[in-house]
Amino acid sequence: MIVGFIGLGTMGGPMAQNVMKKGHSLVVYDVVPASVQKLVAAGAKAATTPRDVAAQAEIVITMLPDAPDVERVALGPDGVVAGLKPGSLYVDMSTIDPATTRKVGAAVKAKGAAMVDSPVGKTADAAVAGTLTLMVGGDAADIARARPVLDCMGTDFFHCGELGTGQTMKLLNNLLAQTIGTANVETLVSGVKAGITLDTMLSVLKTTMAWNQQLAVAMTKRSLVGDFKPGFMVKLAHKDCRLALQMVDALGVRSPVTHATLKALDDGMNGGIANDDVGAMLKLREEEAGVKVRLAT
Ligand code: NAD
Repeated sequence: MIVGFIGLGTMGGPMAQNVMKKGHSLVVYDVVPASVQKLVAAGAKAATTPRDVAAQAEIVITMLPDAPDVERVALGPDGVVAGLKPGSLYVDMSTIDPATTRKVGAAVKAKGAAMVDSPVGKTADAAVAGTLTLMVGGDAADIARARPVLDCMGTDFFHCGELGTGQTMKLLNNLLAQTIGTANVETLVSGVKAGITLDTMLSVLKTTMAWNQQLAVAMTKRSLVGDFKPGFMVKLAHKDCRLALQMVDALGVRSPVTHATLKALDDGMNGGIANDDVGAMLKLREEEAGVKVRLAT
């Protein structure tokens, strides 16, 4: 297929590479020319605008930071919708709110095309390996058409329901993951400050109900060995929790614990680490507490 790919950052860059490696032709666009050049060097064709991408492709993918970016790229004067051909497919893989997805979906439908949302789970490493989790919303027939391209990027595929439900699932996933990560940081910093070694804490926690994937995988590989390069930036984690809590509040579900997670991330946004990996929340709390929580390397 001829695949259009817009948004070639930490995630979109390697995802686009994987689509091309599996034999599809790629037309790409990003506001950062160096990101476009990397894909062009690997065999992709550069387009001049999102509209130009859509005019050349059978399926258009976006992987952008936030909901206003998706609105601008999809609905702007030189946007994807302006260039979509009738019968073509638009797949947004960014993490945004389901209401924006449905708004864009209505504009796509009015052009005689179809939209699917497929935000992704796991990490930048999984984007490189092509092993992402895909949380997909839309009509089954449209999803079946998108599947050969989606399968180039992910291995764990879940059809969550109608358009927008992929985003609903993704926001809930990230709210929970971030809440667990925040609790891990506060617990480990408190433990070291109270005089218990990190080794002792991890050995004990491994045997109890407190053990979790964030501790077992993400923190052990990254923050606990002092690696705070993004990865998944604090500002993106903050955006996800903010959008998730807007949704939870609109549902009328009282959620004091997850609201506290967003407050913790506010500290990161105001503490000079917005562009660091979200694991840098550990560094912030360490500095406040005057301790270091590190695995022996
Ligand atoms: P990123 O900031 O590294 O990449 C975003 C890309 O979009 C950049 O290359 C940027 O130049 C481009 N862009 C921004 N505005 C644009 C516009 N108007 N037109 C064209 N290009 C534009 O972010 P990322 O880490 O790749 O994340 C992308 C999405 O995936 C986010 O919604 C994020 O929440 C989600 N996500 C990220 C991770 C992760 O580990 N990084 C994991 C799962 C999901």
